[in-house]
Amino acid sequence: MENLIVEIVNGKHVTKEEALKLFYLELEDLFLASTKIRKKYKGNKVKVCSIINAKSGQCSEDCKFCAQSSFNKANVKVYPLVNIKKIKEISTKALENVGCFGIVSSGNFLNNAEIEKLCEMFKNHKKVSHLGVSIGKISDDTFIKLKKAGIKKMHHNLETSETFFPHICSTHSYSERKDTIRRAKFFGFKICSGGLFGIGENLKDRIDLAFTLKELGVDSVPMNFLMPIKGTALEHLPTMHPIEILKTVAIFRIILQTPDIMICGGREVNLRDLQSWIFQAGANGMMTGGYLTTSGRNIKIDKQMVRDLGLELETE
Ligand code: SF4
Repeated sequence: MENLIVEIVNGKHVTKEEALKLFYLELEDLFLASTKIRKKYKGNKVKVCSIINAKSGQCSEDCKFCAQSSFNKANVKVYPLVNIKKIKEISTKALENVGCFGIVSSGNFLNNAEIEKLCEMFKNHKKVSHLGVSIGKISDDTFIKLKKAGIKKMHHNLETSETFFPHICSTHSYSERKDTIRRAKFFGFKICSGGLFGIGENLKDRIDLAFTLKELGVDSVPMNFLMPIKGTALEHLPTMHPIEILKTVAIFRIILQTPDIMICGGREVNLRDLQSWIFQAGANGMMTGGYLTTSGRNIKIDKQMVRDLGLELETE
C-alpha cells in the first residue's frame, strides 16, 4: 500500500498536490482510506433523497450539459411551476420513503409570486424540515421568507472548478454561485452543493472543486455524472468509466472528510453493476427514483441494495 494512503488512514488531511496523486493509485487502496473516513463520520447510516422538477425547461441560462437550457435543442418537457397542492402531495408521499425531498426549478430564479406560493405551502407542510429547495439565485429578502416558512436546506451546485466553469456556462459567473452559497450560510441554511463530472473537466478541476466546497463548509455534496443528452452541447461526450467515477468519489471523501456525499444523476447509467461500490468509495447517500429530465431506478431496489450491504437506511 502507498505511504500516502497509510498516512490518510492514520488521519492525515491531504493537500491539493497530494490529492491529485491519488487518482493514480489502485481503487482498492483508495477504498481503504475512503471507507475508514466514511465510517468515522457517518457510521453505517445511508441517506436517501428524491426530487421533483417543479418547473421545467426554457431556462435563460446556457449550461452546456443541461437539457432545460433554451440554448440547447434537447427534447424536454416544458411547464411552469407545478400546482402547489400537487407539490405538497408528492413531497409528503415521497417523505414516507426518503429522508429528504428537494423542490427544484429551472431558470436562474423564481419570481415573487412563485416564491410566495411556495412559502405559503411550506408553512403548512408537516415535514417542512425535510424539504430543500434548489431555485437558482436568491435575494436576501427571499432567504428571509424561506427561513420564516420553515425551510432549512438550500441546494446550489458549483458544478465544477472556477477555472473550468466559463467553458460550460457563460450567462452567469462562478462568483455569483459562491455568493449565493455564502449568503445562504449567513441566513443559517444547511448547504447542499456539489458538481457534475465528465463534462470535459480535468483531474485538477475536480480537486479544485472539492477544495472550494471544503472551504465553503458545505453540509452535503451531491455528485452527478454526465449522461450526455441528445440536443445538448455535450451530447458527443463519452460517459465516464465506472472506476474513474469511484476514484473521484473516494478522493472527494478523502478531501472533504465530514459532509454527506450523495451520489445523484448518472449513477445507474454510468456505474451499472458497480453501483453498490459507492459506499466503499465513501458516499453515505444517494438520490433515488429519477432525476430532473431522466429516469432513475426504483426506490425499492435502491433500498434493498443498502440493506444487502448491511448498511442502515436513515429513513427506517
Ligand atoms: S443547469 Fe439550471 S441554470 Fe443551468 S440551464 Fe439548466 S436549469 Fe438553467
